[in-house]
Amino acid sequence: IPDVKRKNVGVFGLGVSGIATCEALVASGARVYSFDENREARDKTSDTEYRCEHPKNWPWKEMDFLVVSPGVPLTHPKPHTIVRKARMENVPVIGDTELFARALNKLDKRARPRIVGVTGSNGKSTTTALIGHILKQAGEDVYVGGNIGEAVLSLPAFASDAIYVLELSSFQLDLTETLRLDAAVFLNLSPDHIERHGDVAGYLRSKKRIFTNQTKEDLAVIGVDDDYAQSVCTELMARDAAEVLPVSSGSALGRGVYALDGKFYCNLDGKTLLAGDLENARSLRGPHNWQNAAAAIAVCEKFGVPPALAVKSAQRFEGLSHRLEDVGRNGKVLYINDSKATNADATARALAAFDNIFWIAGGKPKEGGVESLKPMMDRVHSVYLIGEAAAQFEEQLRGSVHCVLCGDLEKAVAAASADALKSDKANPVVLLSPACASYDQFKSFVERGDKFRDLVADLSSTNGEAA
Ligand code: ADP
Repeated sequence: IPDVKRKNVGVFGLGVSGIATCEALVASGARVYSFDENREARDKTSDTEYRCEHPKNWPWKEMDFLVVSPGVPLTHPKPHTIVRKARMENVPVIGDTELFARALNKLDKRARPRIVGVTGSNGKSTTTALIGHILKQAGEDVYVGGNIGEAVLSLPAFASDAIYVLELSSFQLDLTETLRLDAAVFLNLSPDHIERHGDVAGYLRSKKRIFTNQTKEDLAVIGVDDDYAQSVCTELMARDAAEVLPVSSGSALGRGVYALDGKFYCNLDGKTLLAGDLENARSLRGPHNWQNAAAAIAVCEKFGVPPALAVKSAQRFEGLSHRLEDVGRNGKVLYINDSKATNADATARALAAFDNIFWIAGGKPKEGGVESLKPMMDRVHSVYLIGEAAAQFEEQLRGSVHCVLCGDLEKAVAAASADALKSDKANPVVLLSPACASYDQFKSFVERGDKFRDLVADLSSTNGEAA
């Protein structure tokens, strides 16, 4: 990290990225003052050079800047006390990605690696991982990090021929000023995610920051399937800063990369070419994933990967756990783990990706429950309900689909499997897509999905005995 020798720097939030920040700052000669509201997090700093001390004891008058973790509120519902203090003392507040950018900006042009950033309300992790996968398959030296996997400051030191692919949440973008991305992706914007931005306008402003420092040589890839992202696309094209490439799943585009029913088309220089299809890709099912894939294909093309090759690599993508994850078969029944779907919106994507669904849902309900999913029940054979939400969901779905109250995941898997095996449908799918948080019965969506995977493994090892 440049220009921090003997400077005083505060680090607030000692999660994975906070610790990596402290270590990078210390290694660069800074005097680091760190803190976390959580005691366990603070304990991790004993015997280190970034001593943990309450911010009221920090030398605010001599503080050069403050690095905060992405979760710390900057504006909504109101600025965190530490953010207010920093502003009062005129201490700039930044994030770890900004430090990454500063290190990058110090490099000689020829030594600078290429950097890709991905943002959006949904699909960031999938798209980031997929870009990493395709570039790796093409023989590139690729590092993937940011909001997914490793913290940016723990990634290997810059190598001029490497490509860094970063997942960037709007929180991280809010804390980043000088990052210039060779390729920036803005997938979509869903107003349900406004969380700490107060309103859609603020949320959109944060997301648009991904394009801030781009120049004519850089590529801006934008999903145009929702009105917000479409408006950003129009605005960027008018601004004429970077090369703008729209991507879509569901609409044909004059110029850009788009998917229609899983087939991918590219029009980059006036001709439309069919690049291949992902209809049978094991880990990129459903129109939402085709939006992610279209963006990945567009980015990889910039780095010399022909779209047809990118589609071939995407067919072999392993996918991410707990997101429409194929966890195996038992006889003719396919099992899909979508434990990451903690709200109805995410579950709608899962339901759109299959037919003949034996759907396991429930857990700790979110506002609105599953009312919005009623019109999709023609794809669902029966619903197996678990957790606190069971009674509410049954009431909401009654009349549109057959509901079975199961209580817990074990019973739901057994009942859904038995029914799916018995059914006369050709390709039945047992889908765990809870549309709920997991906390009533599990520690996290990860534990819930792992449990599902284990239950399915038991079923296949006893080869249908459970039925
Ligand atoms: P993020 O990192 O933005 O949370 P993920 O790639 O982890 O996104 O996907 C999380 C969930 O979001 C998926 O399980 C799916 O339900 C939904 N999703 C993924 N990609 C998209 C997309 N392009 N559009 C809408 N929803 C999506």
